[in-house]
Amino acid sequence: MGIKIGDVSITPIIEIDYPVPASFLLPDATPENLAPDLDWLEPHFVTPGGERLKMIIQAFLVESRGLKIVVDTCVGNDKKRALPAWNELDGPFLQEIRDAGFPREQVDLVVCTHLHIDHVGWNTMKVDGEWVPTFPNARYVMARPEFEYWRDEGEANWGDVFGDSVAPVFEAGLVDLVDCNHQINPELQFFPTPGHTPGHCSIAVSSGSEEGVISGDVMHHPCQCAHPEWCSIADIDREAAIAARRSDSGITVVGTHWASPTAVQIIAHGDVWRTAV
Ligand SMILES: [Zn+2]
Repeated sequence: MGIKIGDVSITPIIEIDYPVPASFLLPDATPENLAPDLDWLEPHFVTPGGERLKMIIQAFLVESRGLKIVVDTCVGNDKKRALPAWNELDGPFLQEIRDAGFPREQVDLVVCTHLHIDHVGWNTMKVDGEWVPTFPNARYVMARPEFEYWRDEGEANWGDVFGDSVAPVFEAGLVDLVDCNHQINPELQFFPTPGHTPGHCSIAVSSGSEEGVISGDVMHHPCQCAHPEWCSIADIDREAAIAARRSDSGITVVGTHWASPTAVQIIAHGDVWRTAV
């Protein structure tokens, strides 16, 4: 399903799509706690009764001002990962982006909202046992504080994410390290939303009279509109993550892990928010 914000088109390419229990990511999002919000969370975002959270791992193919831009690159194929469901995948991602008009050689920019395991995987691909850039003619845009954090910390409990999915594109000279307010092009701009990770950035989309936000992992699931205080187990700085989730009403959010329709308007509801779907 294509998403339009002004002249910007955003096509999700879904790599993994299955509902997860609250304990997988958002321990507070139990069926009991979700009950008051089921009237708007069902059927798009939860399974019946809020038993499980519908979540997807996807990349966004963004066309803006003649540029082909890939935002976040999923888990990737052939990566050794501690989580069995993400280990050594063999998915049709490359064929799907080609079919969508984004053959990998024609991609101009790869933009990573942050450098977690499920956002950098297709930065590289395995060729003859080596990790090489999947998008050889692209510039890879990453926030400098995010890059420096993971370069120094590593992500060892998930697998060698930095080593197999970030370092090879950096060493190939393809990475532009930018600040957290970087203007990507006239219609797209980073803005800082730290908390989930130290250098996490979301992307403001502004085209004609329309505006939206590609959220990254500021909110893993729409239930966090109603409960900004609910943190994912992967949020590194919980206080900062909660602050980053407090957003303007009326805006369209393109949620990186949000199930279809993925792009939804956020509306005020008392002191918090919900989606207009
Ligand atoms: Zn994620």
